[in-house]
Amino acid sequence: MYNQSEFGNLENYLLEKKYSKNTSCEQTLNVHIFTGTVEFKKHRFKSVSLFLINAFDEKTLEIMSKIFVLLCITIALGTTINFLETETSDWFYILDVMASLVSIIISLCIQNVLEYHKDTFCRKCGNKLACEEIGEPIMKEKSNFGDYTLTVTRHWRCGYCGNVDTREGPENIFTEKGEMLPVIHLKSIECKKCSLSGAVVEFKRPDVKEIGNKRITRRYYKCTLCGHEDISENEEQINRSVHACGS
Ligand SMILES: [Zn+2]
Ligand SMILES: [Zn+2]
Repeated sequence: MYNQSEFGNLENYLLEKKYSKNTSCEQTLNVHIFTGTVEFKKHRFKSVSLFLINAFDEKTLEIMSKIFVLLCITIALGTTINFLETETSDWFYILDVMASLVSIIISLCIQNVLEYHKDTFCRKCGNKLACEEIGEPIMKEKSNFGDYTLTVTRHWRCGYCGNVDTREGPENIFTEKGEMLPVIHLKSIECKKCSLSGAVVEFKRPDVKEIGNKRITRRYYKCTLCGHEDISENEEQINRSVHACGS
Protein backbone atom coordinates (compact mmCIF):
# COMPACT_ATOMS: atom_id res chain seq x y z
CA MET A 1 0.00 0.00 0.00
CA TYR A 2 3.01 2.22 -0.15
CA ASN A 3 2.18 4.18 -3.26
CA GLN A 4 3.37 7.50 -1.95
CA SER A 5 6.73 8.69 -0.82
CA GLU A 6 6.90 10.24 2.60
CA PHE A 7 8.55 13.23 1.06
CA GLY A 8 5.81 13.69 -1.48
CA ASN A 9 3.28 13.55 1.27
CA LEU A 10 5.06 15.97 3.55
CA GLU A 11 5.46 18.36 0.73
CA ASN A 12 1.75 18.75 0.39
CA TYR A 13 1.20 19.56 4.00
CA LEU A 14 0.10 23.09 3.24
CA LEU A 15 -2.48 22.10 0.67
CA GLU A 16 -5.21 21.46 3.12
CA LYS A 17 -5.12 24.74 5.07
CA LYS A 18 -6.56 26.73 2.24
CA TYR A 19 -8.55 23.84 0.89
CA SER A 20 -11.14 23.58 3.64
CA LYS A 21 -12.14 27.23 3.38
CA ASN A 22 -13.91 27.35 0.06
CA THR A 23 -14.82 23.98 -1.24
CA SER A 24 -17.90 23.49 -3.34
CA CYS A 25 -19.65 20.26 -4.11
CA GLU A 26 -21.79 19.33 -7.08
CA GLN A 27 -23.63 16.08 -7.49
CA THR A 28 -24.76 14.29 -10.60
CA LEU A 29 -26.06 10.73 -10.50
CA ASN A 30 -24.19 9.59 -7.41
CA VAL A 31 -20.97 11.23 -8.51
CA HIS A 32 -19.84 13.91 -6.13
CA ILE A 33 -17.37 16.46 -7.39
CA PHE A 34 -15.63 18.69 -4.89
CA THR A 35 -13.70 21.72 -6.04
CA GLY A 36 -11.59 23.92 -3.82
CA THR A 37 -8.58 26.18 -3.89
CA VAL A 38 -5.31 25.12 -2.34
CA GLU A 39 -1.98 26.70 -1.42
CA PHE A 40 0.93 27.24 -3.76
CA LYS A 41 3.28 24.32 -3.86
CA LYS A 42 5.87 24.33 -1.10
CA HIS A 43 9.30 23.23 -2.13
CA ARG A 44 11.64 21.96 0.50
CA PHE A 45 15.46 22.01 0.42
CA LYS A 46 15.29 24.96 -1.97
CA SER A 47 18.95 26.00 -1.76
CA VAL A 48 20.16 22.42 -2.22
CA SER A 49 17.82 22.09 -5.19
CA LEU A 50 19.12 25.28 -6.78
CA PHE A 51 22.69 24.14 -6.35
CA LEU A 52 22.14 20.63 -7.72
CA ILE A 53 19.97 21.72 -10.63
CA ASN A 54 22.54 24.31 -11.67
CA ALA A 55 25.35 21.76 -11.41
CA PHE A 56 23.74 18.72 -13.04
CA ASP A 57 21.17 17.93 -15.68
CA GLU A 58 18.01 15.89 -15.14
CA LYS A 59 19.48 12.61 -16.38
CA THR A 60 22.50 12.82 -14.06
CA LEU A 61 20.26 13.54 -11.07
CA GLU A 62 18.06 10.56 -11.94
CA ILE A 63 21.11 8.31 -12.16
CA MET A 64 22.44 9.66 -8.84
CA SER A 65 19.14 8.94 -7.14
CA LYS A 66 19.18 5.36 -8.44
CA ILE A 67 22.80 4.84 -7.38
CA PHE A 68 21.94 5.75 -3.79
CA VAL A 69 18.99 3.34 -3.78
CA LEU A 70 21.30 0.59 -5.04
CA LEU A 71 23.90 1.53 -2.47
CA CYS A 72 21.31 1.24 0.29
CA ILE A 73 20.26 -2.22 -0.92
CA THR A 74 23.85 -3.38 -1.32
CA ILE A 75 24.84 -2.29 2.17
CA ALA A 76 21.74 -3.87 3.68
CA LEU A 77 22.40 -7.16 1.86
CA GLY A 78 26.09 -7.09 2.74
CA THR A 79 25.27 -6.56 6.39
CA THR A 80 22.79 -9.43 6.42
CA ILE A 81 25.19 -11.87 4.77
CA ASN A 82 27.97 -10.82 7.12
CA PHE A 83 25.69 -11.25 10.09
CA LEU A 84 24.81 -14.79 9.07
CA GLU A 85 28.35 -15.91 8.28
CA THR A 86 30.76 -14.26 10.67
CA GLU A 87 30.92 -12.70 14.06
CA THR A 88 31.71 -9.04 13.86
CA SER A 89 31.47 -6.26 16.40
CA ASP A 90 28.21 -4.45 16.99
CA TRP A 91 29.75 -1.22 15.82
CA PHE A 92 30.11 -2.64 12.35
CA TYR A 93 26.38 -3.26 12.12
CA ILE A 94 25.44 0.11 13.56
CA LEU A 95 27.67 1.81 10.98
CA ASP A 96 26.17 -0.26 8.19
CA VAL A 97 22.62 0.54 9.17
CA MET A 98 23.52 4.23 9.39
CA ALA A 99 25.16 4.17 5.94
CA SER A 100 22.17 2.40 4.48
CA LEU A 101 19.77 4.95 6.00
CA VAL A 102 21.86 7.89 4.85
CA SER A 103 21.87 6.60 1.26
CA ILE A 104 18.12 6.22 1.15
CA ILE A 105 17.66 9.71 2.60
CA ILE A 106 20.01 11.18 0.00
CA SER A 107 18.08 9.37 -2.72
CA LEU A 108 14.79 10.79 -1.47
CA CYS A 109 16.31 14.28 -1.35
CA ILE A 110 17.42 13.96 -4.96
CA GLN A 111 13.92 12.88 -5.95
CA ASN A 112 12.69 16.03 -4.28
CA VAL A 113 15.23 18.08 -6.24
CA LEU A 114 14.03 16.41 -9.45
CA GLU A 115 10.49 17.45 -8.68
CA TYR A 116 11.63 21.03 -8.17
CA HIS A 117 13.43 20.84 -11.49
CA LYS A 118 10.32 19.56 -13.24
CA ASP A 119 8.14 22.28 -11.74
CA THR A 120 10.47 25.13 -12.63
CA PHE A 121 11.53 23.88 -16.07
CA CYS A 122 9.98 25.73 -19.01
CA ARG A 123 8.86 23.30 -21.65
CA LYS A 124 8.55 26.08 -24.22
CA CYS A 125 11.93 27.81 -24.12
CA GLY A 126 13.82 24.99 -22.40
CA ASN A 127 15.24 27.08 -19.56
CA LYS A 128 15.67 25.42 -16.19
CA LEU A 129 14.68 27.13 -12.94
CA ALA A 130 12.54 29.45 -15.05
CA CYS A 131 8.96 28.98 -13.88
CA GLU A 132 7.10 30.36 -10.91
CA GLU A 133 3.66 29.39 -9.75
CA ILE A 134 0.90 31.92 -10.38
CA GLY A 135 -2.87 32.17 -10.09
CA GLU A 136 -5.10 29.99 -8.01
CA PRO A 137 -4.30 26.28 -7.66
CA ILE A 138 -7.42 24.12 -7.69
CA MET A 139 -7.97 20.73 -6.15
CA LYS A 140 -10.74 18.67 -7.72
CA GLU A 141 -12.03 15.48 -6.15
CA LYS A 142 -14.32 13.05 -7.89
CA SER A 143 -16.12 10.39 -5.92
CA ASN A 144 -18.47 7.71 -7.12
CA PHE A 145 -19.39 4.30 -5.74
CA GLY A 146 -16.23 2.41 -6.42
CA ASP A 147 -13.74 5.11 -7.21
CA TYR A 148 -12.23 8.22 -5.68
CA THR A 149 -9.75 10.37 -7.56
CA LEU A 150 -8.10 13.67 -6.89
CA THR A 151 -6.22 16.11 -9.11
CA VAL A 152 -4.52 19.41 -8.45
CA THR A 153 -4.26 21.98 -11.23
CA ARG A 154 -1.50 24.57 -11.04
CA HIS A 155 -0.29 27.32 -13.37
CA TRP A 156 3.40 28.00 -13.92
CA ARG A 157 4.73 31.12 -15.64
CA CYS A 158 8.14 31.25 -17.24
CA GLY A 159 10.20 34.29 -16.30
CA TYR A 160 12.09 34.15 -19.61
CA CYS A 161 9.49 33.68 -22.32
CA GLY A 162 6.32 34.47 -20.36
CA ASN A 163 4.64 31.20 -21.29
CA VAL A 164 2.00 29.99 -18.82
CA ASP A 165 1.86 26.23 -18.45
CA THR A 166 -1.13 24.59 -16.79
CA ARG A 167 -0.32 21.26 -15.19
CA GLU A 168 -2.65 18.79 -13.62
CA GLY A 169 -1.78 15.80 -11.49
CA PRO A 170 -2.46 13.80 -8.32
CA GLU A 171 0.63 15.30 -6.60
CA ASN A 172 1.42 12.15 -4.65
CA ILE A 173 -1.65 12.62 -2.48
CA PHE A 174 -2.74 9.22 -1.32
CA THR A 175 -6.42 8.46 -1.95
CA GLU A 176 -8.50 5.36 -1.47
CA LYS A 177 -12.02 4.17 -0.91
CA GLY A 178 -12.42 3.40 2.78
CA GLU A 179 -14.59 0.87 4.55
CA MET A 180 -18.15 1.56 5.63
CA LEU A 181 -18.93 1.77 9.32
CA PRO A 182 -20.40 -1.27 11.05
CA VAL A 183 -24.20 -1.04 11.34
CA ILE A 184 -24.01 -0.84 15.13
CA HIS A 185 -22.04 2.36 14.78
CA LEU A 186 -24.73 3.99 12.64
CA LYS A 187 -27.50 3.36 15.18
CA SER A 188 -26.48 6.32 17.29
CA ILE A 189 -26.32 8.82 14.41
CA GLU A 190 -29.17 11.28 14.37
CA CYS A 191 -30.62 12.62 11.12
CA LYS A 192 -29.96 16.33 10.86
CA LYS A 193 -33.31 16.97 9.23
CA CYS A 194 -35.89 14.79 10.96
CA SER A 195 -33.83 14.29 14.14
CA LEU A 196 -34.56 10.59 14.26
CA SER A 197 -31.78 8.23 15.09
CA GLY A 198 -31.37 4.65 13.91
CA ALA A 199 -32.48 5.36 10.36
CA VAL A 200 -29.24 6.72 8.98
CA VAL A 201 -27.22 4.55 6.57
CA GLU A 202 -24.04 5.08 4.62
CA PHE A 203 -24.97 5.10 0.97
CA LYS A 204 -21.50 4.67 -0.43
CA ARG A 205 -18.01 3.81 0.70
CA PRO A 206 -16.13 6.77 2.21
CA ASP A 207 -13.41 8.74 0.43
CA VAL A 208 -10.08 8.77 2.20
CA LYS A 209 -7.16 11.04 1.44
CA GLU A 210 -3.89 11.69 3.21
CA ILE A 211 -2.48 15.18 3.21
CA GLY A 212 0.61 15.84 5.27
CA ASN A 213 0.19 13.94 8.50
CA LYS A 214 -3.59 14.00 8.30
CA ARG A 215 -5.91 11.30 7.11
CA ILE A 216 -9.23 12.78 6.06
CA THR A 217 -12.28 10.56 5.73
CA ARG A 218 -15.42 11.80 4.05
CA ARG A 219 -18.55 9.79 4.72
CA TYR A 220 -21.89 9.87 2.92
CA TYR A 221 -24.95 9.38 5.07
CA LYS A 222 -28.58 9.13 4.11
CA CYS A 223 -31.69 8.99 6.26
CA THR A 224 -33.91 6.12 5.18
CA LEU A 225 -37.00 7.87 6.60
CA CYS A 226 -36.84 11.38 5.17
CA GLY A 227 -34.19 10.87 2.50
CA HIS A 228 -31.92 13.60 3.81
CA GLU A 229 -28.30 13.21 2.71
CA ASP A 230 -25.39 14.38 4.76
CA ILE A 231 -21.69 14.44 3.99
CA SER A 232 -19.32 14.60 6.91
CA GLU A 233 -15.57 14.90 7.11
CA ASN A 234 -13.38 13.64 9.86
CA GLU A 235 -9.62 13.98 10.17
CA GLU A 236 -7.16 12.04 12.21
CA GLN A 237 -3.43 12.33 12.76
CA ILE A 238 -1.34 9.69 11.09
CA ASN A 239 1.23 8.01 13.20
CA ARG A 240 3.86 7.43 10.53
CA SER A 241 5.68 4.58 12.21
CA VAL A 242 2.52 2.61 12.86
CA HIS A 243 1.32 3.41 9.36
CA ALA A 244 4.52 2.18 7.75
CA CYS A 245 4.40 -1.11 9.62
CA GLY A 246 0.76 -1.64 8.80
CA SER A 247 1.19 -1.19 5.08
ZN1 LIG B 1 10.13 29.83 -21.10
ZN1 LIG C 1 -34.28 12.04 8.38
